[in-house]
Amino acid sequence: MLIDTHCHLDKNDYDNMEEIINNMKDNIMIASGVDLETSLNVINLCNKYKNIYGTIGLHPTELDKYDLSVMKKIEENLTNPKIVGIGEIGLDYHYGRENEKFQKEVFIYQLELARKYKLPVVIHSRDAALDTLKILRQYKDLKIDMHCFSYSLDIAKELIKLNVKLGIGGVLTFKNSKKLKEIVEYIDLKDILLETDSPYLSPEPLRGQKNQPINVKYVSKKIAEIKNISEEEVEKITSLNAISQFDLR
Ligand SMILES: [Zn+2]
Repeated sequence: MLIDTHCHLDKNDYDNMEEIINNMKDNIMIASGVDLETSLNVINLCNKYKNIYGTIGLHPTELDKYDLSVMKKIEENLTNPKIVGIGEIGLDYHYGRENEKFQKEVFIYQLELARKYKLPVVIHSRDAALDTLKILRQYKDLKIDMHCFSYSLDIAKELIKLNVKLGIGGVLTFKNSKKLKEIVEYIDLKDILLETDSPYLSPEPLRGQKNQPINVKYVSKKIAEIKNISEEEVEKITSLNAISQFDLR
């Protein structure tokens, strides 16, 4: 069994959602929201499909939608048993740092929610490694997934010390991802969660096409190749990691 720990199954992304979900057979998906609308969509999918779980929250590039009523609605849904975490949330300085303070406030607000509801978090962090690390050091009690990990080996080591899991996706299969391949070779399989970040970041040999959760198998295959172990072993260990990380049942 494979578990895609991070994907987006937004209505606008797929013409035939049913087919995309059927392609996963009995494998499991954790769909993620980025704002209130996509979070409510995640909840609908969770209620409809047994093998879909969800995380809900406000993404750092969607902060123009921040409003206390939005945060309240997100909070109201955190007790849904299929909602297994808050995400994706975090810091993104890629487009500039002028709202850095606000990003940190909303990030911390949601980390506090995670603490209050004893939920794991899925983190988006781009061009903001040190600030993310600094904040996460205050939340060692949380179960954290650093989704689409893209930083250095040093940052990976620091995060793993905090018991953070690294979300590894299609980027690993890209020809130019030498650094990430070295990190995956170095770190223990128990610290890895498989993901696709569908519909983005399709793995090789499908790079450039619209991604979908079943393509998580290419990520698993690549990890097996890099670590010189069987695909079965990668599937087994990473699925156990995901089940324990998100307390799936
Ligand atoms: Zn995502």
